[in-house]
Amino acid sequence: MQLTNSLTMKKEELVPHEPGKIKMYTCGPTVYGYAHIGNLRSYLMEDVLEKALRYEGYQVDRAMNITDVGHLTSDGDTGEDKMLKGARREHKSVMEIAQFYTDAFFADCEKLRIRRPDTVAPATGCIQEFIEMVSVLLEKGYAYLAGGNVYFDTAKLENYYVFGNQSAEDLAVGVRDSVEADGNKRNKTDFVLWFTKSKFDGQELKWDSPWGLGYPGWHIECSAISIKNLGEYLDIHCGGIDNAFPHHTNEIAQSEAYLGHPWCGHWFHILHLNDASGKISKSKGAKLTVSVLEEKGYDPLSYRLFCLQSHYRKPLVFSFESLDNAANAYQKLTVRIGGLAKGGQPDREAAKPWQEKFKEALANDLNTAGALTVLYDMLKADLDDGTKRFLADDFDQVLSLDLLAAGERASQPAGEEVPPELAARIEALLERRAQARQAKDWPAADAIRDELAALRVVVKDTPQGAQWHLE
Ligand code: AMP
Ligand code: ZN
Repeated sequence: MQLTNSLTMKKEELVPHEPGKIKMYTCGPTVYGYAHIGNLRSYLMEDVLEKALRYEGYQVDRAMNITDVGHLTSDGDTGEDKMLKGARREHKSVMEIAQFYTDAFFADCEKLRIRRPDTVAPATGCIQEFIEMVSVLLEKGYAYLAGGNVYFDTAKLENYYVFGNQSAEDLAVGVRDSVEADGNKRNKTDFVLWFTKSKFDGQELKWDSPWGLGYPGWHIECSAISIKNLGEYLDIHCGGIDNAFPHHTNEIAQSEAYLGHPWCGHWFHILHLNDASGKISKSKGAKLTVSVLEEKGYDPLSYRLFCLQSHYRKPLVFSFESLDNAANAYQKLTVRIGGLAKGGQPDREAAKPWQEKFKEALANDLNTAGALTVLYDMLKADLDDGTKRFLADDFDQVLSLDLLAAGERASQPAGEEVPPELAARIEALLERRAQARQAKDWPAADAIRDELAALRVVVKDTPQGAQWHLE
């Protein structure tokens, strides 16, 4: 499989440390609020990568942390812990909000059919591992104590900026928050491994350590959790592009200093989901969550399809218009699959070339749009329905669009009960159509009418409002 590697910014063949096996690590969510659909774009594309690797025949072992301590509001190590800020906002304890938003995160993942990684480790459960790692870094001379904190000394490295080819734009995303100088640092790029002192002394969770009562820095979490669960050699490390600098740069610095050898061969970064005004971020209070999409009548899997339609290495602009297009495409696709005759035996020989084409698309830097094209072409091809159903189900191991079951629901003959998610979507479209009409926005009203027609909805306008049924 070829994947773009952020270390070289080139498409490179993935060569696992142990043939046939992939050790994969993902930076998990900081659980101080709901994940927005931008965060979920990253988790969704990582999920597709994991499933594509399994489809290729690799044995994948995947670990992810849950950041429930140490992620500060500033990349300059001078901010407040995001968890503490979240807890204060909700008048709850840090552990209460951590549990609540961890559960909410996995509930959203389930709706998007994102598989839970094999290992999920909250940072607060791995404090001893962090302390051990920091102790070794001090012993080896890569870390120093200053003003009560332990810092990593980036001057000890020949090459700190490993993602050398990164564009200035990517780096700018990495240092998104206003960075205030921390006077204890010997070098500007040094970072905290363990805090006992910060401007904000209200830290709720603190642990004993050889350097005093304190708490870990964010970066050490991922290195220690990865090494503990996946060993000294990692094949793929994933995350959103804003994590490349400083988070992943610091992870590499401390992991390689600790291990004494190269750590991870492939860095897989997902470009951001943006809206018209720029990056969608949690701290700016974005209200674009899976629940919001559902309230507006969208099936979360329409969002999954929306993400699959574009390449992970390109920024993706979100708008409800483009989500409508994806929702339409999803509806049409599932109706098409639902219309395939059931019960026929698949012709596995005839299926093989299609499976190969599907693999080829994924092996080409996870070309999910290409993989979808293989699905569409296959549905149009001269194959019997049994083979088409078999292949749709087979591809769904990676796409996870629930193709056969959704097809079943979508193809229910008119007159039978309308699936609730479809009914909610139709109601939402009608509501938007009414608003568009009221605002005399005829192009928008027409576009919604076309969408309703594609869903086979017949609308009758009455004095009591619009009434509808399926054709
Ligand atoms: P956080 O919960 O803030 O630690 O972020 C969780 C993941 O979402 C990280 O891998 C981020 O890089 C990623 N992320 C944050 N914002 C976006 C966005 N707008 N689009 C895609 N991924 C994002
Ligand atoms: Zn991380």
